[in-house]
Amino acid sequence: MWLHLFSIDLLLLFPLISGKCAWDTCAQWSNDPDTVNIHFVPHSHDDMGWLKTADDYFTGINGDNVKLHTAVYHIYTNVVTELKKNPQRKFIVCEVGFLTKWMDTADEELISDFMSFVNNGQIELVCGGWVQADEASTHYIDLVDMYTLGLRKLNKSVGGDCVKVRSAWQVDPFGHSREHSNILAMMGYESVYFAREHHKEHDLRAKNKNLQFHWYTSNENSERKITGTDFYGPRYHSPSEFDWDIRSYSNDTPPIIDNPNLEGYNVDNFRRMLELEISSRLATQSNSHLLVLMGGDFQYTNANRIFTNLDKLIKIANNITTRKVQAFYSTPACYTEALRESMHSWTNKTSDFFPYADKDNSYWTGYFTSKPAMKGLVRQSSNIINSVRQLGVFSFNKQLDEYSVKELKLEKALGLSQHHDAITGTSKETVTQDYERQLLNGWDTAESAFNDYFSNLSQNFVHTSAKFPLQTFCRNLNESQCDFTKNNQDNFTVVVYNGYSQNMKQLVRIPLYEESIGIMDNKGNELDQAWIVSTFENQQINNLNRSNNELIFVANVPANGYTTYFVEKLGKSEVPKIPTHSETKLSAKANTLSNGLITLNFDSSGFLASVTSAEGVYPLKQQFLSYNGHIPVPIGAQTSGAYVFRPQGDPKVIAKYNRVNVVFTYLEARQVFDDYLSQTIRLFPNDTKIEFEWTVGPLPTATVDGWLTSLEVITQYTVGIKSNKTFYTDANGRQMMKRIRNYAPDFEYENDEPVSGNYYPVTSSAFIEDSNIGMAVVTDRAQACGSLSDGQLEFLIHRRDYYDDGYGVSEPLNEPGKDGKGLVVRGKHWVMIGKQAKKLRPQLQLQLFHSPIVSFSTFQDLQVSTELYLTEYSGVVSLPENIHLLTLKQLDGSSVLLRLEHIYGKDEDTDLSKPVDIDPSTILKDLKVASVIETGLGANYKIADVNGKITLNPLDIRTFILTVSQ
Ligand SMILES: [Zn+2]
Repeated sequence: MWLHLFSIDLLLLFPLISGKCAWDTCAQWSNDPDTVNIHFVPHSHDDMGWLKTADDYFTGINGDNVKLHTAVYHIYTNVVTELKKNPQRKFIVCEVGFLTKWMDTADEELISDFMSFVNNGQIELVCGGWVQADEASTHYIDLVDMYTLGLRKLNKSVGGDCVKVRSAWQVDPFGHSREHSNILAMMGYESVYFAREHHKEHDLRAKNKNLQFHWYTSNENSERKITGTDFYGPRYHSPSEFDWDIRSYSNDTPPIIDNPNLEGYNVDNFRRMLELEISSRLATQSNSHLLVLMGGDFQYTNANRIFTNLDKLIKIANNITTRKVQAFYSTPACYTEALRESMHSWTNKTSDFFPYADKDNSYWTGYFTSKPAMKGLVRQSSNIINSVRQLGVFSFNKQLDEYSVKELKLEKALGLSQHHDAITGTSKETVTQDYERQLLNGWDTAESAFNDYFSNLSQNFVHTSAKFPLQTFCRNLNESQCDFTKNNQDNFTVVVYNGYSQNMKQLVRIPLYEESIGIMDNKGNELDQAWIVSTFENQQINNLNRSNNELIFVANVPANGYTTYFVEKLGKSEVPKIPTHSETKLSAKANTLSNGLITLNFDSSGFLASVTSAEGVYPLKQQFLSYNGHIPVPIGAQTSGAYVFRPQGDPKVIAKYNRVNVVFTYLEARQVFDDYLSQTIRLFPNDTKIEFEWTVGPLPTATVDGWLTSLEVITQYTVGIKSNKTFYTDANGRQMMKRIRNYAPDFEYENDEPVSGNYYPVTSSAFIEDSNIGMAVVTDRAQACGSLSDGQLEFLIHRRDYYDDGYGVSEPLNEPGKDGKGLVVRGKHWVMIGKQAKKLRPQLQLQLFHSPIVSFSTFQDLQVSTELYLTEYSGVVSLPENIHLLTLKQLDGSSVLLRLEHIYGKDEDTDLSKPVDIDPSTILKDLKVASVIETGLGANYKIADVNGKITLNPLDIRTFILTVSQ
C-alpha cells in the first residue's frame, strides 16, 4: 500500500527521493523457530511539556536535574553524530514538533545527515504527529489536524518516500482509544506500539502470549485493522540491567568492558543477564521475535555511552551458545514485518483500553477531567482554527500558503496541546499555563487573520475599496464582560460566524451596558427573537466589568459563513424595542420553565424533577454531588490526583441548607446550590434540548482530622430509563463505545474501585437508552463519565486534590485560578431526552463544537454598511444533515484541503445512516475547482484522482486536495 502513482503536479506536493527506508533495510532475521531474534529499538521519549515546558525541554534550561544537562536539542544532535559511526545503528524519531524545533536550530550539515539517515534506513520516523497525543480527552477534529500538521511537515522538511509513517508510537499515553487507532488506520498506519493497558489485561495477554494482536477499529468497516503491540516491560524503558543513560532510574549499570586486558572485564555477566532476559520474555511470546526497547524519558543526551554499550551488547548476544540467538538493531516497521512473517494466528480485539489501571486501586480516570478550564480552552480553540481556516479559503489569497498564514500559530499551539501531558491536565501548573498562553497567543493571530479574511472577502464581492470594519473579539463573553460594548458610545455590529456546515440557529448572549437598544438583521429587519435579562449575579466570578444585563438573541447564520446584526442605542425618550424580562422566585405557583415545546418541572427543594413534552412526562433529576478524594492514609495509600481518581466514601449532595435557591427568568432557571456552585438551566425557542451551564469553584478548603479534604464534583442526571447496566460513551467524538457496569470485555473485572473503575472518557457525548427512549448528554469539553445506576449518568466536572498521586508530576491538583483562591470553571451540557435523542446526538455534538464566534465593530448607518460591505456570506452549498465539512484549509496558492465526513454510525438511524454520494468539486460555492485528488487522512499521500461523485459510508472521513482558481 506504500506504492502510489504520482501525477506530475503532485511530485511537488510529495517529493520522491528514492531512498532505502528503515523497512527496506531491516536486519536479516532468522525464520528458524528455534532461533531467538532480538530487535533492539533505540528511542527517546521526549514529552513536549510536563515538568517543564516544551521549549525548556528542548533547550535544556530550567533543568529538573541541573547536573544532567539533558536537552532534546542535544539528543537529536548527538544521536545523528553517533549514527554516523556505525551504519548498523538505528534510531526512531517521534514528535514532529521537536524535530521541527531542531531543524530550525541545528547546523545544515547535521540536518543533511539526519535526512540521509531517514533515507538510508537508519532513522525511522514513527508517530508522525506534532506530539505523541493523548487518546482519552482529545477530539478527533484536533487529532486529525495534529497528525496532518506533522505528516505534511515531514513531507516538506524531510521529504522522500521514507517519511510515510507506518507505526504509531503511543508508548506513554494512559490508555488507548479505538477511534484513535481507527484514525491511524485511515492514515495508512500499520501498527501501534504502546505500553499502558490495564494491569489485569496486560498480565492476561502475557500469560496467553498475545501481547501482539490485531485490533479491529471500526464497526462500520469490518476489514479495517491495525497491529497492536504491547510491550513486555518495564513500560517503554530499557531493561534496568542494560540502561546506560545518564538519567537512568537505576543509574548503576556499569559499562560493558569487553577487553579482557582491562580491569573489570564483565562480558560473562552481561551474557548471563541477557540469557535470563531472553528466557523471561520468551515465556510471554507466541513467536521468536523479542522487542527490546532501548531508551526512556529524554534519554540519549549522551548517545555515545548508550550506542557504544549497545554495540557491544549485540555482539555478546550473537555469541550466546546456550541457544540460537540473532540480535540486531531494529525499528517498529521491521518488527511489525517480522511478526507478520512469523505469526500464523492472531487474536483479535474490538474494544479499547479504557480505563487504565496500573495496579489495584489506581484507576487513571481523574485525568479525563483534570484541569477543566484548559480542556475547555482547547475545545474553543479548535472551533476558532477550523472557522478561520474556512474563511481563509473563501477569501482565497494566492500569496498565502499553509506555512505563511497567520493562524498557523494557533494550529501549532493546538497541536501541542494534544500532547499526553497537556490536554490531560497532568503537567505542572506552570506548564499548563504555558500551554494556555500559547493557545491565547494563537487566538491573537487567528483574530488578526479573521480581520484580513473578512476584508478580502468583502472587497472581492462588493468591489469597493472600503475595508471591512475592524472586528474586535471579546474573550470574556462567558463572564458577561465585553470592554468593547462597554466603552463604545456608538451603535455597534455583531458579526456571528458559523463554522458548522448546516444553517445555525443558536443563542448569542451579549453583555449589555445600555438600557435601551434595538437589534436588526443585515436586511434591516428587527429581530423578533431577542430579549434582555439581568445578568446572573453570583459571588463566584469576581469581575467588576461584568454587565448588569445581557442581550440575548437567536442568531440565524448560514452554513460555513457569517451574518451581521446591527445594535442601535436608543435615546432615553425612545420606546424600548426589546422586551426586558423580570425574575420570579421559586414558589408553589412558579416552579416550571417552558418554551412551549417542553416544560421543566422543579420540586419544592429547587431541584429539577421532570420534563414534560409532547411525548409525555419523563422524570429527570439533576443534582451536583461531591466525592472526597482519597487522602494518603494509611501512609502509601493511593490518593486522588492529576492522573488518578480515587474517591473515599459516598458522594454528598451539594445544597447548602438542603435547599436550592432558584430564580426564573425568560427561558432560564438560575440555581444557587452553595457559595461555590451555581447553574443556569436554559431552554431555547423552538427546540427540545436543555442546556445546563454550571459555574463551579473555587472549591472550598476544609480539613478532617487535620487532613485537607480533596473535592471531586460531579453532575448527575437520573431518568426513568431501564438502561440495564449499559451506557455508551464517545471515542474522541466519533464512534460510540458500549460500556457495561462492573465489566471489562477482555479480562476478569474486579470491583476494587466501584466508582473510578466504572468511569470512562467522554470527549463529546454519552448516551443511555431502553426500548422506549434515550437520553444524550453532549459536553463542551472532555470529561470523565460513569453510569453507576441504571437510568443514570454522572460526569466529573471539577477537581481539587491536595495530595500528589505519585505518578511523577509531584504536585497536587490545586489550580489557583485568576485570583489565587482556586479555579472557577464554567461549562455546559446539552441534554436531550426522548425518542429523538439517539437520532439528534451526532448533530448536537457538532452544533455545540461549532458554537457561534462573535465579533464586534461600530457602525453609523445600516444602509451604508450593507452597501459598502459584505454583511452575510456562506461559502458552501447545502449539505445533507448527515454530512459534515470536517476541514477546509488553504494549502498554497492553488490548492485547498477538503475533508468530508459521514457523522452517523451504521445503525444509528434508519435514514441518516444511509450512504451519501457527493461530488467534492461542487462543495465550494465561489471557487472554481480544476481537479480533485483523494489522499490519505493525513493529506500526505495520494490515493487516486477523483472525477465526479464519491460515496461517504457511515462514519467515513474522506480527504481531498482541490486545485482551485477563483
Ligand atoms: Zn510521556
